[in-house]
Amino acid sequence: MKLILLGPPGAGKGTQAQRLQDELGLKQLSTGDMLRAAVASGSELGKKAKGIMESGGLVPDDLMVGLIEDRIGQPDCAPGFILDGFPRTTAQAEALDRMLGKRGWKLDHVVEMTVDEQALTQRIVGRFSCAKCGAGYHDTFKRSKKDGVCDVCGATEFTRRKDDNAETVTARMAAYRSQTAPLLPYYAARGVLRKVDGMASMDEVYRQLKAVLGKA
Ligand code: AMP
Repeated sequence: MKLILLGPPGAGKGTQAQRLQDELGLKQLSTGDMLRAAVASGSELGKKAKGIMESGGLVPDDLMVGLIEDRIGQPDCAPGFILDGFPRTTAQAEALDRMLGKRGWKLDHVVEMTVDEQALTQRIVGRFSCAKCGAGYHDTFKRSKKDGVCDVCGATEFTRRKDDNAETVTARMAAYRSQTAPLLPYYAARGVLRKVDGMASMDEVYRQLKAVLGKA
């Protein structure tokens, strides 16, 4: 199964993609995670992406398309994948159509996670994750059971994304509205667009997602 999760920053794409990966065996392909790893490693891609990500803008299409094209051809993507954060522009969506077509693949579903924009900044600026296992937390909505200790692995170091601050979030929202939201009519016209209520609880969003995918 090939799936795209679409929605603004903070909609919960990463959280839900992770759960789908764990339970359904679909590979989560998060371009944001790939870029953060590239920045951390100091690679050429990371050097090009760093400043753009910190300002909340979008990394150039040719770099993103190359990254995904390499990734989807790898054997762990053969059972299926969830694109989380890609495509983000019409040019990326068209390139994706070409790369899938070349392999005789098609998109099964594009799921829009609908959210109330007002709530997103609060969701984003409060989030942090375990530095060791990556488990996600939130200052208000999901604290660890014991303060300062990861529920999953017991580690005591946590990290926050550099771009999860109020100023950068404003720019990321603007990029979503102007460059990514036009993908909604693009996929609706192809008959593959579905919606889930991204404001519902995490479990409820997951339930709706599985229903959309026919896995309920
Ligand atoms: P995310 O983790 O999906 O919120 O992505 C973090 C940042 O990485 C974004 O604000 C962009 O700067 C960059 N990024 C991630 N995916 C893409 C993409 N498909 N196209 C362009 N930039 C991207």
